[in-house]
Amino acid sequence: MSLFAAVEMAPRDPILGLNEQFAADPRPNKVNLGVGVYYDDNGKLPLLQCVREAEQRLLAQPSARGYLPIDGMPAYDQAVKALVFGADSEVVRTGRVATVQALGGTGGLKIGADFLKKLLPSAQVLISDPSWENHRALFGNAGFAVHTYAYYDGARRGVDVEGMLASLRAAAPGTIVVLHACCHNPTGYDLTPAQWDAVVAVVRERGLVPFLDMAYQGFGHGIAEDGAVVGKFVDAGLDVFVATSFSKSFSLYGERVGALSVVCASRDEAERVLSQLKVVVRTNYSNPPTHGAAVVATVLNTPELRALWEQELGEMRTRIRAMRQRLVDGLKAAGVEQDMSFITQQLGMFSYSGLSKDQMVRLRQEFGVYGTDSGRMCVAALNSRNVDYVCQAIAAVL
Ligand code: PMP
Repeated sequence: MSLFAAVEMAPRDPILGLNEQFAADPRPNKVNLGVGVYYDDNGKLPLLQCVREAEQRLLAQPSARGYLPIDGMPAYDQAVKALVFGADSEVVRTGRVATVQALGGTGGLKIGADFLKKLLPSAQVLISDPSWENHRALFGNAGFAVHTYAYYDGARRGVDVEGMLASLRAAAPGTIVVLHACCHNPTGYDLTPAQWDAVVAVVRERGLVPFLDMAYQGFGHGIAEDGAVVGKFVDAGLDVFVATSFSKSFSLYGERVGALSVVCASRDEAERVLSQLKVVVRTNYSNPPTHGAAVVATVLNTPELRALWEQELGEMRTRIRAMRQRLVDGLKAAGVEQDMSFITQQLGMFSYSGLSKDQMVRLRQEFGVYGTDSGRMCVAALNSRNVDYVCQAIAAVL
């Protein structure tokens, strides 16, 4: 009998399954809102000008591709620290942040999860209800029991802050809490600054371990505004984990550029934590790849490219906002009577539309408009050519 005879087929990734269905759909006016990717107004994945220019500079001075240090490219790690915490922040100046380059935001989460499993073997992990599905799978595969904290309030169309705080108050000390720093995936609903303050206070009182997932910095209110959440945890004196992703903010999905940063109590502690993070990296894939990190470091560390990046990221954010408004206006024009203005209150790439599974299935089958069964739609995939069609389709199933 073959070694693999008893291997079962793993369930398909629901989003990738949706993509396959979309690709096989022959209708020319089909629209894929299932993805978590930003497309420009021509429906194309952008290659940012700042990335193009950084690549030209790198090409002008070609370098051999030796192994990077286990924790990644030093200029990159430095740039990440400056972006996430501020170059002049006390935590960076005093050297109490341990940062490693990672394979995207996912890689940052995974390095953190593996390190935490060794540090807190019997801790539980809390993720938001709902959350990015990979949070559950990733922390589960790292060996943790994964539960949820209250988050989305469908009836009030927003965050159930009281429920969230109650869940956190009920958690045992040492529980790891995974928090979306901004642009919550899948709902699009974020906490207000005052609500973050309340969460920080409970995390501190209860001795919980905050793990911020920052996958969309700059897509909410702005780079600094979105990053302010990290500062709240740091200012409260907490040991905080931050997973950074540049997949969306640099449109560098396939380069796998991200990081994990851990704020420690002292430089000495940070050095020891870093040594342990390096063990995790070393024993998984030895060291990270060069190109994406070189591009991002070049952009972040070159003032004019950095300014260009901020401008381009601002344009992406503004275009998404405009599409949200077009959606709300278009739905009204298409005869939808219920108030859909909540769509413009949501942030980031996604909108939890409030549509039921049946309605989402009808959107797919009758109109070729693909979103997830949960009602999540990627508004960053709307453009001036498809938005009216999407509005008519939604209006027809509502
Ligand atoms: N966290 C969240 C909340 C995400 O939405 C994503 C991307 N879909 C990630 C992490 C992972 O990002 P990356 O592609 O950089 O691994």
